[in-house]
Amino acid sequence: MDFSLSEEQHLLVSSIRGFIESELRPLEEGIEKTGRLADDVASEIRAKSQELGLYAVNIPTKYGGGGLSVLDWMIAEEQFGRTSDILVRRAFGNVYEILLEGTDAQIETYLIPAVRGDRTFSVAFTEPEAGSDAAAIKTRAVRKNDGWVLNGSKHFISDGLYSDFFIVTAVTNPDAGARGISTFILDKGLAGFTVGRDQPMMGLKGTSHVEMHFENVKLNEGCLLGKEGQGLKLALATLGRVRLAQVSARAVGRGSMILDSCLRYSKDRRQFGSPIGEFQMIQHMLADSAMEINACRLALWQTASRIDAGEEARGAISMLKVQASEMLGRVVDRAVQIYGGAGYCCDLPIERYYRDARIARIYDGTSEIHRMVMARQMMKGDVGLFDIYEQAR
Ligand SMILES: Cc1cc2nc3c(=O)[nH]c(=O)nc-3n(C[C@H](O)[C@H](O)[C@H](O)COP(=O)(O)OP(=O)(O)OC[C@H]3O[C@@H](n4cnc5c(N)ncnc54)[C@H](O)[C@@H]3O)c2cc1C
Repeated sequence: MDFSLSEEQHLLVSSIRGFIESELRPLEEGIEKTGRLADDVASEIRAKSQELGLYAVNIPTKYGGGGLSVLDWMIAEEQFGRTSDILVRRAFGNVYEILLEGTDAQIETYLIPAVRGDRTFSVAFTEPEAGSDAAAIKTRAVRKNDGWVLNGSKHFISDGLYSDFFIVTAVTNPDAGARGISTFILDKGLAGFTVGRDQPMMGLKGTSHVEMHFENVKLNEGCLLGKEGQGLKLALATLGRVRLAQVSARAVGRGSMILDSCLRYSKDRRQFGSPIGEFQMIQHMLADSAMEINACRLALWQTASRIDAGEEARGAISMLKVQASEMLGRVVDRAVQIYGGAGYCCDLPIERYYRDARIARIYDGTSEIHRMVMARQMMKGDVGLFDIYEQAR
């Protein structure tokens, strides 16, 4: 059990942190004000990140990605948490591993261009009537001749305005429940496929979240990703790591960055003749945040190492999703309190961090759903969630 970072891991952390500080953080305020990141700036930051080898670090090298282990990927994602969602998407790529399950032709047409940064894609599962209950979707794909015809709608699809193609779930056999759902790859330009309204959100400015409509969209056989009827299974098997990366690891990094600001502010801000950091109630908040961040980071490394050792770690991923997203909520809430009025005022980024953090408990499965998953895993005998010794036997 060795918790020290290797030379390479230190280098990974410092090169991402340096890049974020010099290239990305200066863009954050402008995006917050205008609600968008200009396309030419997006291309520029992508090119710079690619030069440093920081794009698509999770994808195997044989497809042009960084080929990092899950642990190293999580260490990288922790650093990504130090900037905003849209900047992470454009600078480091958001290449979902679900495409690794594609055919050779799909890998050539979709995965490799995405890894190069030439094409961007989103995952579209949620519908107005089916969020947590992902098996309740109504979007329907009906077999016709040598392909499919798709009808239905999706909503809240992140990065939809910018994406060139989408991974979409649809019912292919209405009598088979969760086993009657399949996954398709849809190009943006297809006839009958409309990317609709950009749905305004509380935070995450700069990232679009769109409605999508399918009206008799014709799909050929090559659009089916994975096997017919295995769509939900495929999503569950491949999106777990994404959750670990995009929600949990980034929450740890973000919490850590926010606590660092709180520490600096507690030393600088004086009231009653003393730095506020000398008041015990402020010290409690700093100490509580440090404890929680550290616990989440260790759990993140533990879960990542288990996945690297070949485990699916489904329960552990759910555990960390809840633990890290709720930790971030408490850390950023304390930050607003420590900064006082300045924490609530839009002149400083603390209020933005507060709004941005709120989504972590909702998307990629709500806290309630992940608690349910954990409990079910434990009932099935996965006591390794709380008794590591039992699991190691
Ligand atoms: C900013 C943003 C980005 C998103 N990006 C994407 C994306 O890129 N792709 C995509 O497909 N989706 C995306 N989503 C959708 C997101 O994953 C869903 O919002 C989320 O899964 C919750 O579904 P829902 O909003 O329909 O809430 P609901 O499922 O309606 O839940 C409402 C409440 O009921 C609770 N609840 C539901 N079922 C149970 C239960 N069995 N037991 C206890 N409590 C329960 C929930 O926890 C929640 O508190 C995004 C959403 C947002 C807001």
